[in-house]
Amino acid sequence: MIETVSSWMTDELAIYRDNVARFVAAEMVPMDALWRSRHHVGREIWRRAGELGLLCADIPTEYGGAGGDFRHEVVLYEELARRGLSGLGQGVHSIAAHYLLNHGTERQQREYLPRLASGELIGAIAMTEPAAGSDLRGIRTRAIRDGDHYVVNGSKIFITNGYLAGLVLLVVKTDSERDSKGVSILIVETADLAGYRVGDFLDKLGQKAQDTTELFFDDMRVPAENVLGGEEGRGLHQLMSDLPYERIIVAVQAVATMEGALTETVRYTRERSAFGKPIAEFQNTRFKLAEAATIARIARTFVDRCIEDIVNGRLDTTTASMAKWWTTDMLQQVLDECVQLHGGYGYMNEYLVARMFADARVTRIYGGTNEIMKEVIARSL
Ligand SMILES: Cc1cc2nc3c(=O)[nH]c(=O)nc-3n(C[C@H](O)[C@H](O)[C@H](O)COP(=O)(O)OP(=O)(O)OC[C@H]3O[C@@H](n4cnc5c(N)ncnc54)[C@H](O)[C@@H]3O)c2cc1C
Repeated sequence: MIETVSSWMTDELAIYRDNVARFVAAEMVPMDALWRSRHHVGREIWRRAGELGLLCADIPTEYGGAGGDFRHEVVLYEELARRGLSGLGQGVHSIAAHYLLNHGTERQQREYLPRLASGELIGAIAMTEPAAGSDLRGIRTRAIRDGDHYVVNGSKIFITNGYLAGLVLLVVKTDSERDSKGVSILIVETADLAGYRVGDFLDKLGQKAQDTTELFFDDMRVPAENVLGGEEGRGLHQLMSDLPYERIIVAVQAVATMEGALTETVRYTRERSAFGKPIAEFQNTRFKLAEAATIARIARTFVDRCIEDIVNGRLDTTTASMAKWWTTDMLQQVLDECVQLHGGYGYMNEYLVARMFADARVTRIYGGTNEIMKEVIARSL
């Protein structure tokens, strides 16, 4: 009863989900402990996901994608999130692909999308800098035109897929005199690129298998034809127009994590006993689980509606921002109860709910902080 059949499911998607679930259970779950210990998932699993058609599932086949829609993407997000697998930065990878699909030139799309879909290239998006996170207009990484190249200097921090990324969509200032019109996105192919350096794995509270790093650019030369869309100064506009897609991904992951945590907690509390009966039979446990299941169901209903809306091209930034802040705040509450109901075991990384609890904290911070989400919503009122 915790996981319901979504309104957008079809028979075809149900078969797809079975295949995805089998792959995730057989080839990813057993690897998670190793991935967490070394702080990255490795390139092989990306290649494998590419072979199976799971990357860029909603990118048209003419660009090497699977030709599905956002629901196919959702299936993979859900199957990963329910199992607490936070290492594969597939959300960011897909967002990078969508920047190319929505804003790239035909050449850029043909050159990079098939390689993202096959897993040959792993995508990253580099916006945040040490002195500029929520307020992106404060970025300092500069790209100065020099003939048919840009020369880039600066650094980025907290970059998901930073260690493995072969393709970085890099947000830079191309004109320091102009405010919003001075920002551009450069498509940076990182292999053997002089002046490009990846920092150490960042020591995070959670998401230990995710290769989040700093990136450094020191007189790094990028071909001028690699400015996204072929025209300077459109970076902020490009970033803004893809926000609903990015925010709904975080919300989808949040709901699926709630459902996975609840299923596990129901199972655990039935097996564990105290004072002569299963923990699940105490009224407190029953009420806490009932409350959490209600939150998960409300979140599921809202997010399913957002998924339908994005498939039909009508999800707006305000609604996606509501989904992002609310589901991630609720996720934290639900996980806190799940940890509590596990007692001391809930604090041990060996247990799914402990890993989920630590992994989830950042979802209220990244993808735009929840405070910024509320700013966006308030502005629309
Ligand atoms: C694990 C992880 C992965 C990440 N992945 C990426 C990535 O792949 N690419 C990328 O570019 N970035 C990434 N980030 C960066 C993330 O998006 C930023 O951390 C986030 O946008 C907040 O920026 P900041 O850390 O500079 O915080 P700040 O902007 O300094 O904010 C600090 C606090 O002030 C609040 N605040 C700021 N402005 C306002 C306001 N106007 N009103 C009210 N409160 C406000 C914030 O909500 C927050 O609570 C990642 C971060 C983490 C931790």
